[in-house]
Amino acid sequence: MNSFRDRLTTISETGKRLWIYAKKPKGRLTAYRNIVAYLCILLLFAVPFIKINGYPLLLLNILDRKFVILGNVFWPQDFYILAFVLLTFFVFIILFTSIFGRVWCGWTCPQTVFMEMVFRKIEYLIEGDYTQQHKLNDQAWDGEKILKKGSKFLIFGLFSLIIGNLIMCYLVGYENVLLAITEGPKAHLAAFWGVIGFSAVFMFVFSYLREQACTIICPYGRLQGVLLSKTTVVVAYDQVRGEPRGKKGHAEGDCIDCKLCVHVCPTGIDIRNGTQLECINCTACIDACDEVMVKIHKPKGLIRFDSINGILKGEKWKMTPRIYMYSVFLGALMVFLTVFLLTRKNIDATLLRVPGQTFQTTNKGTITNLYNLQIINKSFAKMPLEMKIIGLDNAKLQIIGNQSIVLNPESLTENVFIVEVPEKDVPKRSNTLHLEIYSDGKLVENEKVSFLGPIK
Ligand code: SF4
Ligand code: SF4
Repeated sequence: MNSFRDRLTTISETGKRLWIYAKKPKGRLTAYRNIVAYLCILLLFAVPFIKINGYPLLLLNILDRKFVILGNVFWPQDFYILAFVLLTFFVFIILFTSIFGRVWCGWTCPQTVFMEMVFRKIEYLIEGDYTQQHKLNDQAWDGEKILKKGSKFLIFGLFSLIIGNLIMCYLVGYENVLLAITEGPKAHLAAFWGVIGFSAVFMFVFSYLREQACTIICPYGRLQGVLLSKTTVVVAYDQVRGEPRGKKGHAEGDCIDCKLCVHVCPTGIDIRNGTQLECINCTACIDACDEVMVKIHKPKGLIRFDSINGILKGEKWKMTPRIYMYSVFLGALMVFLTVFLLTRKNIDATLLRVPGQTFQTTNKGTITNLYNLQIINKSFAKMPLEMKIIGLDNAKLQIIGNQSIVLNPESLTENVFIVEVPEKDVPKRSNTLHLEIYSDGKLVENEKVSFLGPIK
């Protein structure tokens, strides 16, 4: 009876791929989903072009290890903040999924949005609805099939190329992608091969892989088993009301076994079997069933957004200890993240003694120590710096090769400097000094370092 749990609906008993021909969905939720999806697409295409302080809203330059989020540049030194952002996002997803199930998958995930709202729609336009698509696939390669399949793959290729370019805009910035387009691939080989590689992957995903990306590959999909509970709101079939199913007049349940909910499902499952890993909560089956219910004069909502407890016991949604726990954890993470972001400095200095050096005694009766100073300017502005050394009386600081330090925007500068202290002012073998770095009169960094002298 539970044989549907033995294997994926898209894989045959012999392990072969079973192609899904999903019926074109229509209805109230589909209309909302269209609006949400087109807003998501608009946002995806707009983000790389939106600038804050001359910097993109989002740039994830993995090759140069430069990340720009909301116009703020994050360096590898800020990795702990990025790790915290990811952890917070991960806990948010867990909390959201525990309450609302996989709404993200069906409504806003770029894979579903592009698959269902762009590529599948092109397919409906060229090949017709699911029965015509099935027929076309089964027929011999005549003129009609070559024309329809050929034009479909050409348009699929074009859209994959557009999405490939979009991804590169997120990775290297739209200016570099435009340069690669206008100046040709020779001068921008990395960007060119990046676009070709991503476009090929998208072409493969949207023309062949399709729902398998959600049911087999996506790790978020695999997590559902541990994230969902009987109180999670999911797309669910009301078995209490629907069963026993059967033709109108031959059974007592409201389900007339028309299988329209199965035909519209883009992952090919029968939601009447209960919540399944393949269900992406796209709500197409809700619309299909509501239409049937209206026709047979029954109340809508035989398939609806509800929890298992809601369906079996009529329970309303309520907070569970698990949801409380996740919420508290998420709140704490958000507080930490806010503190990290607010206290994040524009410059980051690393001060180290030059390796292999202890101290030197000069013929002027002073002791010198040599240091390496590495400073990163994370801001977008030039930063002239002043440095002060404190901790020992009459300590003097001399930068080798430079009289002053001016940091260029988003750059790393290395300097070597000497600290010189009269021997009488060096009280012990190891002394503590503080290097204070000022920009525009404001203290921007304070580094502690030891100053070595002779044993006394
Ligand atoms: S669409 Fe509704 S009535 Fe038709 S099979 Fe599905 S649940 Fe039953
Ligand atoms: S069962 Fe319904 S909500 Fe789930 S994927 Fe299929 S059509 Fe979408």
